[in-house]
Parts: sequence; C-alpha cells; structure tokens
Amino acid sequence: MDAREAALRQAYDHALRWLASLSDRPVPARASAEEIVRALGAELPDDPSPPADVVDLLATACEPGLTAFPSGRFYGFVIGGTEPAALAADWLVSAWDQNCVMRAVSPAYTAAEDIAGAWLLDLLGLPGGSAVGYTTGATMANFTCLAAGRDAVLRRAGWNVARDGLAGAPAVHVVVGEERHMAIDVALRYLGLGHPDAVGADDQGRIDPDALRRSLAAAGECPTIVVLQAGEIHSGAFDPFAETIRAAREAGAWVHIDGAFGLWAAVSPPYAHLTAGCADADSWATDAHKTLNVPYDCGIAIVRDPATVRAAMGVHGDYLIQHEQGDPSDKVPELSRRGRGFTVWAALRSLGRSGVADLVERLCRHASAFAAGIAAIDGATVLNDVVFTQVCAEFGSDERTERVLSRLLDDGTTWISGSTWRGRRVMRISVSNWSTTDEDVTRALDAIRRAAATA
Ligand SMILES: *Cc1c(COP(=O)(O)O)cnc(C)c1O
Repeated sequence: MDAREAALRQAYDHALRWLASLSDRPVPARASAEEIVRALGAELPDDPSPPADVVDLLATACEPGLTAFPSGRFYGFVIGGTEPAALAADWLVSAWDQNCVMRAVSPAYTAAEDIAGAWLLDLLGLPGGSAVGYTTGATMANFTCLAAGRDAVLRRAGWNVARDGLAGAPAVHVVVGEERHMAIDVALRYLGLGHPDAVGADDQGRIDPDALRRSLAAAGECPTIVVLQAGEIHSGAFDPFAETIRAAREAGAWVHIDGAFGLWAAVSPPYAHLTAGCADADSWATDAHKTLNVPYDCGIAIVRDPATVRAAMGVHGDYLIQHEQGDPSDKVPELSRRGRGFTVWAALRSLGRSGVADLVERLCRHASAFAAGIAAIDGATVLNDVVFTQVCAEFGSDERTERVLSRLLDDGTTWISGSTWRGRRVMRISVSNWSTTDEDVTRALDAIRRAAATA
C-alpha cells in the first residue's frame, strides 16, 4: 500500500466510525478549542510525517471537539446533513480535483453541472434556460443574483457599472422586508448598495405588500430592486409572491428571491402553494447544503436571463479558453473552484423526483411533531404558524426559555439554538437533516420535556 492509499484508508475508517457514532454520541462537542489545540499540537514540525499518521492524528485529536451537525438530532440554525450519495461524490470531487472554471477543459464537469442545473430548474418550478451557478453558499448566491440585478437596473437607466463603476451612478432603491436574512444586507454592502429600505412585515415575518407599494411609490422612477424571501428563519414563512411581484413589476423593479432553504417547498405538491408566483421573479438564491443535504459548501444562484449574470460575473481573460455557450465561471464570482455540480447531481440522482419531495415532506412532518409536542408542555407556547420546517417556542418568560435551552445543551441529546424573535427569547427548531427519524424527534422532545421540568 503506498502512502496515499494508506492515508485514504485512514480517512475512510475514521469517517465510518464518525458516522456510526452519530446515533448515540452527545450532539454538542465535549472538548474546548484549547483542548483540541493541545491534542493536535501547536508546534509546526520541522520534518515531514507520513500522510496516514497525519490523518489519524487529525481525526483522533479532533473527535471530542466535533459537534454532531450531521446528527438527526441537530436542530440548530438552518443547516442540513449530508445525503450518502452526495457525501461519497464529494470524496470523488476531491480525488478528481477538477478545476471547474472552463467548459472546454473538464467535459465531465460541464455535463454534470448542466444536467444538475436543468433538474434544479425543473424541480423548483423555475424558468427553463435560466443560468444556474454554484457558489459557496446562499450568501454568495444572493450576492451573485443581486450583482446581476444591480447592473441590469442601472443599465436600463443608461449607466454601465462594468465600465464606469458606481461613483456618480444613479441611486439604486433596494426594498426588503424587515425580516429578511442578514445575508441580504451583507450582499448589498459588498455590492456598494448600502442599506436597503426595510419595510414592514406581518407577525410571521412576511413582507407587507402595502408597505412595499408605499416604498416603491415614494422612490418614484429610479432603478429598483425588490428582495423577497421564501422561508423566514424563525417562522419558515413565505412572502406573498404573486401580489408583491406584480407590484414590483409595475414599478419596473428587478425581483430577487432569497430561498436558501424554503425554495425547496416547490418540489412537494402539499407545500408547493407556499412558493406560488415565485417563478415570476428575475433571480433566486438557494442552498444545496441546507434542504438538499449535500456537503458544504454549496449554494445555488439562478438568474432568469443568463446574459445579465454573465455581464456581471463573466471573465474575459486572454489566457482562458472561452466557450460560446458560456463557462461555469460566467455565473459565479470564483474562477478556480471545486466541482460542486457533481455533488448536487449525485444527491438529485440518488433521491429522484419523489425522493426530493419525500425529503421535504419528512422535514415538515417532523417540524409539526415538534410543535405538537412542545405545545403540550406546561407553560410552553409555539409562537409561529408551523408551515414548513421551522418552529419557534417560548417557555413563559425569557429567563425560563434561556434556562430550558441551557439545560438542553447540558443534556446533550439534541442541539437547539436560542434566538430573539419579535422581541422575546425563543427556542428555535429547524428540521433540515435527511436522516432525522421519528425516534430522533421523540428523543429530542423527551429531552425538552426533561429540561422544562426543572427550569
Ligand atoms: C442560511 C441562509 C442564508 C445564508 O446562507 P449561507 O449558505 O449560510 O451563506 C441566507 N438566507 C436565508 C434565508 C438562510 O436561511
């Protein structure tokens, strides 16, 4: 066995041990970063080490400091686990080491990216022929889409951002709902668009169409971008797309939808109504590393008119071999990057159309089970309408909610994050892992009941 094969076998054995440990290990990490630094050793050695020994040291030293994010009982933030086919494909992506910048150089990558892109548009009910680009996550997918939108609305106003920059350009009016994800603000900041006009939202975090119309009317005839949301991170709520997109269209705005985890409702007949009207937007950002459960890092930027994203993101270096159909790098900020389209292809190919729908429906069913279980706990209240995968609850007072959360973390059966929503501390449950079972939900609910009984 050569050194490379020995290292890969070490990694394989450690990976299987880690995955097998997920059903029973405590979900929170058991060691601090300082302890892991000691176990890894802070000194850079002078001499080389055999690769297999390095992999063994890494895995052994880090294991106690790993949080079981891929566990079926991790419900913090909005994350997602890793579908088996996508995980295995991701290993191949590393071994294949394709640089996915140009169409002409890796035909295999081009094929997988194109097929996965067409499947995504079909599943998500978005216009065929839209550009589908693979980014590091939804933050960069939002950035990519909003860059295309910024340049397009300014072009319509007679301003060429690519040539003349933003200094002296007409102001771009950006309207968002007050409960949009902060990733939108980050993207707007990167794009030199500053603070958006954040208009009111209802009690579930859905943008208020009247407030949107008022903002559009007040801005008058100027380049405008409207950002809507499919899946609010606390309530899971979806903006009323048909009405808001109509209003935005009348104002000549570019319409972008942040659907990092929620856009996937479109794949399931019982939930597709949540995204009704979505397809009329100009661009959509989503994550494959959340609801679709591919490994990090994989976001997806979809733009209806490929020419707009190509104008914003395309590169025109003499040393690149440019393809008339456009290159993968024309749709995202990066040049050199790994083959994210391979893992998306593998997840979709493995699940099939019905498997993606089942996945979404299972996540939603577990969320409803959480809501029912928590509502039955003394003093606990579920605060949101549980329409998708998110549940927000409180336990009588901010202080008690905090105590329940902290006892839950000590208990270790599950990992659930706290947050502040509509002025109060809440327990926020996000069900986004394909591997969560009914038994996981039962065990997590038992843990919540235990924590609440003593808090
Ligand atoms: C997670 C999330 C983002 C940011 O996505 P990353 O993949 O973490 O960059 C943006 N918007 C919403 C609604 C999200 O849930």
